[in-house]
Amino acid sequence: MQEGRIVKISGPLVVAENMTDVRMYDVVRVGEGRLLGEVIEMRGNRASIQVYEETSGVSPGEPVVSTGQPLSVELGPGLMRSIYDGIQRPLSGLMELSGEFIGRGLEVPGLDREKKWEFKPAVEVGDTVISGDVLGTVQETILVEHRVMVPPGIPGATVRSIKAGEYTVTETVAVLDVEGESREVTMLQRWPVRVGRPIKERLAPEDPLVTGQRVIDTFFPIAKGGTACIPGPFGSGKTVVQHQLSKWADAEIIVFIGCGERGNEMTDVLLEFPELKDPRSGEPLMERTILVANTSNMPVAAREASIYTGLTLAEYYRDMGYQVALMADSTSRWAEALREISGRLEEMPGEEGYPAYLGSRAAEFYERAGRVICAGSQGREGTLSIVGAVSPPGGDLSEPVTQATLRVVKVFWGLDDRLAARKHFPAINWLTSYSLYTDTLDAFFRTNAGEDFPELRQEAMSLLQTESELQEIVRLVGLDALSARQRMILETSKSLREDFLYQSAFHDIDTYCSMEKQYKVLKIILTFHHSALRWLDEGTSIDKILELPVRDEIARARLAPEDQLGKLAQLAEQVTGEFPA
Ligand code: ADP
Repeated sequence: MQEGRIVKISGPLVVAENMTDVRMYDVVRVGEGRLLGEVIEMRGNRASIQVYEETSGVSPGEPVVSTGQPLSVELGPGLMRSIYDGIQRPLSGLMELSGEFIGRGLEVPGLDREKKWEFKPAVEVGDTVISGDVLGTVQETILVEHRVMVPPGIPGATVRSIKAGEYTVTETVAVLDVEGESREVTMLQRWPVRVGRPIKERLAPEDPLVTGQRVIDTFFPIAKGGTACIPGPFGSGKTVVQHQLSKWADAEIIVFIGCGERGNEMTDVLLEFPELKDPRSGEPLMERTILVANTSNMPVAAREASIYTGLTLAEYYRDMGYQVALMADSTSRWAEALREISGRLEEMPGEEGYPAYLGSRAAEFYERAGRVICAGSQGREGTLSIVGAVSPPGGDLSEPVTQATLRVVKVFWGLDDRLAARKHFPAINWLTSYSLYTDTLDAFFRTNAGEDFPELRQEAMSLLQTESELQEIVRLVGLDALSARQRMILETSKSLREDFLYQSAFHDIDTYCSMEKQYKVLKIILTFHHSALRWLDEGTSIDKILELPVRDEIARARLAPEDQLGKLAQLAEQVTGEFPA
């Protein structure tokens, strides 16, 4: 292949001439240092290349060589537990090669070539298979069974040979007969990151991704295969929410993309994540997690790529039939990378300097979430849910990245630093947040939590809405202006906030709340409210009602162990009848 020549260097952007054989999105090696880059614009024989490594010291005249391949990731056993940079180089491997400060032009494969995996066939010689069918399995970690699939692009084949045994990822585990030609299959596949992996059919989301966090599951649920956005003002508890979701959401696989900018943002991820325990198995959470983390000495372009790298890894596990949750923190950093590259390409800037295609890029990203029938003849169902954090400067939600995100995601968890300052955690604002999945998911909640669950949620939300209006009155004219009924609404709303929405991530029991328990706690609070209104009508004074000792028990309901929920039902009965003598 012809060699190009660098004519211009502008930060992460390099322009090269004589690039006639090169296509858009080809991966190229830039300069004497063979830095990794990707062609993002072609004009005649001039290519603009975004370079994933620091370009200082590179000069015009140095060569550029195309690999002829798009930016791809390696897929196969060994992904779990890995910590990768934005272009799937394992950080541990990079550090071994070049120490703390990662050198440039290093080539480290995403998957270990030496490690042997115990492969167990799932099909037999003579079986007919198509792309996506599971050929066999490998116990990848204690928690994850890896399903080795027929690679994409094979519409029909017969298994010629397949044998159990120990293999590296590049050794042949099966030979297929594809229209008379034999094709060797290894456990290693490659897939271009900017293209979604093939699926058989897209399904509408149906079930919630239960997270055990009351404000999320009850008020603003996300569907399995759905999308959510969470803004994270500093100190608002974003990290804790993300950790809680990673630990407790009923997803089998977690992919966490850290596109942090400041060094310390990344250190948090790299130091804290590996320490997390999977609460259900007691094993390290990394046993079912992949981390994609941009190190601080990687330039912006790598951040841009990291989103796609993480997505593709997540889709691969979805294709195996897993429930996968992907978290990206923060997509604002990714958008800033887009902006910087776009500026250097001298494109026409849109709002606040972001490129005009910011919205469509954000949409493309979130559209790769979903509930699907996986490729293949076996009819597996898999889901990929995406939670993207945004970091709006100054908490201003009207800025372009947040707006572009809100146009595509279906759930918004509005983290509020004022709530965090009042120590209300998780600091998700119940008045500004929303979920567009509630209607879809209510059938599930009626069956799995309680028949009247949607109505209870509706009532709780409108009480909280009324509370904020009443508080306005109280601020203006004082508590005395309120009727007894209105005062009761304030009391119940307080109880909803403190005994239901408040949830400590660090309390052994409170950290996770099953759907059944969420329903029961909410039911007690509202049952008490209904009885209280009736007692008021019957002439009981509000002070007497507020003095009832049962209120303390209601306040403690959220701390009831999951195996003693019967007590909560009894508690609800205690408050349904006459005013207790
Ligand atoms: P951020 O990542 O937004 O800067 P963190 O997630 O680190 O903020 O949270 C800041 C602090 O808030 C935590 O150290 C913790 O003390 C408190 N916090 C956040 N969420 C919770 C929660 N759900 N339960 C109890 N404390 C919390």
